[in-house]
Amino acid sequence: MKQNYQVVVIGGGVVGCSVLYHLTKLGWKDVVLIERRELTAGSTWHAAGGFHTMNADTNIAALQGYTIKLYKELEEISGLKCGLHHSGGITLATTPDRMDYLKSERAKHRHMGLNTELLTPADIKKLCPITNTTGVIGALYDPLDGHLDPSGTTHAYAKAAKIGGAEIITQNPVLELKPTKDGHWDVVTQNGTIRAEHVVNCGGLWAREINEMVGVYMPLLPMEHQYLVTNEIPEVYNWHTEVPHSLDPAGETYLRQEGRGLVIGYYEQRCDPWAVKGTSWGFGSELLPDKLDRITDAMEKSFYRYPVLEKAGIKRVINGPFMFTADGNPCVGPVQGLRNYWAACGVMAGFSQGGGVGLALSQWMVHGEPEKDIFAMDVARFGNYTNKNYTKQKVVEFYQKRFSVSYPNEERMAGRPLHCTPAYSIWDKMDAVWTSGYGYEVVSYIPNSEATKTENYTFRRSNAFENIGDECRHVRNHVGINEIHNFGKFRVTGTGAFDYINTIMAGKVPEIGKITLTPMLSPKGKLIGDFTISRTARDEFQLTASFGSQNYHLRWFQQHLPADGSVKVENISTAVLGFQIAGPKARDLLQDVTEDDVSTKAFPFLSVRKLEIGNFVAQVQRVTYTGDLGYEIYVDASNQIPLYHILHEAGKKHNLKPFGMRAMMSLRLEKSFGSWLREFRPQYTPMETGMDRFISYNKPCDFIGKAAALAEKAKGTEKKLCTFVVDALDADVMADEPIFYNGEVVGWVTSGGYAHYVQKSVANGFVPTHLAKDGLEVEIEILGDRRKAVLYSEPLFDPRAERMRG
Ligand SMILES: Cc1cc2nc3c(=O)[nH]c(=O)nc-3n(C[C@H](O)[C@H](O)[C@H](O)COP(=O)(O)OP(=O)(O)OC[C@H]3O[C@@H](n4cnc5c(N)ncnc54)[C@H](O)[C@@H]3O)c2cc1C
Repeated sequence: MKQNYQVVVIGGGVVGCSVLYHLTKLGWKDVVLIERRELTAGSTWHAAGGFHTMNADTNIAALQGYTIKLYKELEEISGLKCGLHHSGGITLATTPDRMDYLKSERAKHRHMGLNTELLTPADIKKLCPITNTTGVIGALYDPLDGHLDPSGTTHAYAKAAKIGGAEIITQNPVLELKPTKDGHWDVVTQNGTIRAEHVVNCGGLWAREINEMVGVYMPLLPMEHQYLVTNEIPEVYNWHTEVPHSLDPAGETYLRQEGRGLVIGYYEQRCDPWAVKGTSWGFGSELLPDKLDRITDAMEKSFYRYPVLEKAGIKRVINGPFMFTADGNPCVGPVQGLRNYWAACGVMAGFSQGGGVGLALSQWMVHGEPEKDIFAMDVARFGNYTNKNYTKQKVVEFYQKRFSVSYPNEERMAGRPLHCTPAYSIWDKMDAVWTSGYGYEVVSYIPNSEATKTENYTFRRSNAFENIGDECRHVRNHVGINEIHNFGKFRVTGTGAFDYINTIMAGKVPEIGKITLTPMLSPKGKLIGDFTISRTARDEFQLTASFGSQNYHLRWFQQHLPADGSVKVENISTAVLGFQIAGPKARDLLQDVTEDDVSTKAFPFLSVRKLEIGNFVAQVQRVTYTGDLGYEIYVDASNQIPLYHILHEAGKKHNLKPFGMRAMMSLRLEKSFGSWLREFRPQYTPMETGMDRFISYNKPCDFIGKAAALAEKAKGTEKKLCTFVVDALDADVMADEPIFYNGEVVGWVTSGGYAHYVQKSVANGFVPTHLAKDGLEVEIEILGDRRKAVLYSEPLFDPRAERMRG
């Protein structure tokens, strides 16, 4: 063991070994993995070894596809066997909703290049004859699914890493992590201290304890999980080929062949968290006691679905713990507030995701950013809003719903409400239907009848459709009020603030009293932010963007702060709250609550003012995501309720009514406004999305991403974001549906829905640049149907923006 390394990877499970391998693959050789005992000594050794590509996030699904395809490469490099069985996999549907879900998954796979297929019950029987197809409507087949040998695969990663130049040291626990004055880490191990530039936490079951060494909390909790290995089954070993993986979500089971028998695992409702207070350092490779009583219900269902199980006999029961996060996706990336401390924690499906996690993290470390947008597994997505209690509730909920249908309008209620703004009580009295973002409750819509007090979960238009439509129409015809806490807000001050913002943002920094819109770019020219900059004084700015990405953005801001202390960045996302008012009467309403002149001349579009409203000063911005005449009114959180009462009283005259997030997302559609993490995300570039119109290419300073943005401008782009009007029936697009032109898949949908005011079903999506012309006729697959769609290059509402700017 040397005393200095560029990188110390802590943990020799499948994830640590993958990170180590990928670092060497990308050219970093001075890297070491430190393992407490021997490789695979955590959850890795007792995994069932299954792998699959399905994930709700298409980028993670793509990384899962990468992981599965990587195993051949590993075998070739290492000369070791991963024990691969590409048996294919079937996911059964026993309800129409589940079938809708599988159809929407199949549609996604078309533009991802995955060759999945929908199956009939007869097809299922042919592929997996041990299935009782009574009550089965259909299934999705994925030829890439399969299983492997967990230990062999981990050793293949490790050997390939060693061939690439890495070192692996076992039987050496890391005891302490100490940041050094020069920005490095002292990694104190049982066998001595190592000085490292970077530390990666791949501690698996002990990831929480390693995080504690540096004072970091992530929402991680292990759960017990059981699978059974059966005795030999003639119907299995006499079948001419391997039985495919079979997932019966209604029965909460997964099943695959193991030798001459089967493995069957359960995601049961009566599940148990494990080591809630922390994982003991003494825990080794032991299994947990069997708890068959926990799975008796699920076993019964599995005997019905696969009758051969009934007489098979159980050879072995495996009950082992593995780590989950609050939303089931891993926590990966640089941890905000710590220099060069990286996470690869909570990787729940190490054999589906381990390769992709290793690749993305290594790209981030070596190249400064991952190639794909991996926000869905970025450790920053959780911010600091969680604690152990909340984590437990969310992890248990995730485990229980692991195999249930995820509806696009579904609300998962465990651990909620967690954070509420003062205005929560106002909406609650109106029986608001809630959604949540970054731990905060957000109004989805306000019910206008008994029938919409609860929304039905569906892939099609729900019972709340007209209710949300009424909210949209009210905004467009009168004036609406909506809470704006779902924006992330940062106050940037100091003598260096102007230059700092000029460097990190690609657009123009506004003059005092003005607002500009700007993309924030990574060095490679990817969109990492979509910001509104408001300037209230020479050295005082507010940066407004996505509420859910506030930690992601704060991490970036802190990484780029000048060392001279001339800039202060404060996250004021919840310290400053307020409302937006929008609609043709918005100005009249605002004028009624302030003595200051708010006429267009005095307060034009894209400007910011400090106005006296009631007994306090509000920061009012003339900008609104509804695309109507509108204002965002921000006050200190303690003034939010008084502000509401003032607006509410004055609003009686103007027929002011509340509207929720769903109406706002519908209104933005008819203006073709993109949305963060849908149209605008680190996957895409300014020219592809039309955000280039906000770039100030000629500003004198060298902003981050300038070279890449200029290169893109010179070269052009292969794809363009467009808006389509879809000839939809009872279902609108959600995201990731394929776009067909002349029968070929040429693009995909980023988001969409029903634009209630213009009464059109709208889809935003990418198509090749040469096709992106007004009137282009395409087809978009919605729940298995190809629906006609036409490209519109002008916004459907107020194309000349007279309402918004007037
Ligand atoms: C019953 C069961 C079935 C499963 N089935 C599947 C499946 O079919 N498919 C699938 O993809 N996944 C499955 N999993 C999940 C899979 O096991 C995990 O996703 C995977 O093991 C996570 O790997 P890891 O490297 O993150 O963690 P771990 O395997 O826990 O590895 C962490 C390593 O870090 C070491 N370590 C910790 N602290 C220190 C320290 N301070 N110093 C040095 N070393 C340290 C540990 O000794 C350990 O070796 C299953 C899990 C269980 C329990």
